[in-house]
Amino acid sequence: MSSPASLFIDGEWVPATAGGTRDIHCPANGEFVATVSEAGTEDVHRAIAAARHAFDAGSWSATPGPERGDLLLKVAELLRERKDEFARAESLDTGKRFVESQIDMDDIANCFSYFGKLAGQDAGRLVDAGSNDVLSRIVYEPVGVCGLITPWNYPLLQAAWKIAPALAAGNTFMLKPSELTPHTAILTMDLLTQAGLPAGVANLVLGAGAVAGAPLSEHPDVDLVSFTGGLASGKTIAASAAATVKKVALELGGKNPNVVFADADFEAALDNALNAAFVDSGQVCSAGARLLVEESIHDRFVDELTRRASQIRLGGPFDEQAETGPLISAAHRDKVTAYVKQAIAEGAELRCGGEWGKGELESGYYYLPTVLDNVRRGSTPVVEEGFGPVVTVETFRTEEEAIEIANDTNYGLAGAVWSQDAGKCQRVAGRLRHGTIWINDYHPYLPQAEWGGFGQSGVGRELGPSGLAEYQEAKHIYQNLRPAVTNWFPPHAD
Ligand code: NAD
Repeated sequence: MSSPASLFIDGEWVPATAGGTRDIHCPANGEFVATVSEAGTEDVHRAIAAARHAFDAGSWSATPGPERGDLLLKVAELLRERKDEFARAESLDTGKRFVESQIDMDDIANCFSYFGKLAGQDAGRLVDAGSNDVLSRIVYEPVGVCGLITPWNYPLLQAAWKIAPALAAGNTFMLKPSELTPHTAILTMDLLTQAGLPAGVANLVLGAGAVAGAPLSEHPDVDLVSFTGGLASGKTIAASAAATVKKVALELGGKNPNVVFADADFEAALDNALNAAFVDSGQVCSAGARLLVEESIHDRFVDELTRRASQIRLGGPFDEQAETGPLISAAHRDKVTAYVKQAIAEGAELRCGGEWGKGELESGYYYLPTVLDNVRRGSTPVVEEGFGPVVTVETFRTEEEAIEIANDTNYGLAGAVWSQDAGKCQRVAGRLRHGTIWINDYHPYLPQAEWGGFGQSGVGRELGPSGLAEYQEAKHIYQNLRPAVTNWFPPHAD
């Protein structure tokens, strides 16, 4: 997959002007994957200029919505045809199981289909101005040139949640994927070209955030920056975007409560608590890393959770016995290691895990599924995102207390409630201050349903109709059909 020319600018594959490159290695075994270009500031500026020119020329922004929608539907179709090629590339970059990457590719194709259909329906709306002499309507126009910055955990999925609505609305963009996981972004430029997207509409810059990403929030020719990633980077990006008053969308981290009441379906809640915490080794923004369990079932629930977590099989993307994979990098594993150590230092009880993978797993960045019991409220592990295969356990006695603990976070991305009492589920769901609440389930999301965070989990929404609206300006066109003199400032004698 190596390419000395893997920046995509104005419809051309080009190397970095200063010749920068980066080697990508698979986190599952350290094997070399490919060498890709690493953009410098000058390359990013060229990409912005290309996107600006394409937007102003109207090659895409002036294309009617239904035609833009057809192109997105074509992208979905092409992705379905090339699913395994894309899934393989995603798995080599992230180390995640091939079968999970295949599921991601299906979800991504569905995302393109959803926004493809939405683009064709977007005809604006009439407004009743209260007079038959006035024609008043709202039209939705593209925001302009968009900087799209994405993380490594779901590389193409997170990018698709931005690319699909940005294109549906008629914008042009520069995509800056994580420097650790560039390959499906590279393949996607090829896919968009194959589908017939005009040159300059989609541009790809690769490289580290501070160099290849920062100009996207700073440059005056960028109208909107949409970022998915960590809280610290999100704050930096929002602050620098403020200098030119760009529109800013932020999808940040979470500290997501998974609330299990004593009257829950025990087996389903247990199975999903494992799923919530350990899918993709917990490197999921909405991971159910904060388990709140009603005190009366705590011992039985946590004993079983520990037993089952200890049995989870780790392995590389193509190991058919593996149930989850490695962490993304040595640096990230060090962070997770430090997080668990800190939790134990603050009184958490280590029930299982808390160490690196051994034997065959030593060639990758594996960390064993970890259960931390009896974690104190307000302690570091329940305040900070761990972003690894680590679940903390707290208990509650009443519905009120469960809600209070679940809301005791600066984040507010997602959460779940487990109970067979439908009324209780609805009451609790209604009071949780998080952007998505699952009842008796964990992790499902729909392209047609908004995704995003309360509090410091972010600003704005992806997916659903609001996900398209992020990339649109609503313009009010008011036409007086019977112009008349108002005499507000009547003429006076000279
Ligand atoms: P990160 O913030 O380190 O990096 C994300 C992206 O931002 C990367 O492309 C990086 O190169 C770039 N970047 C970093 N600093 C930048 C800067 N100053 N200017 C411009 N770009 C910059 O995050 P990560 O480690 O890649 O991802 C993990 C984080 O992402 C977690 O906190 C997770 O919760 C969050 N996340 C959130 C969602 C969501 O939907 N809310 C989804 C996935 C991941």
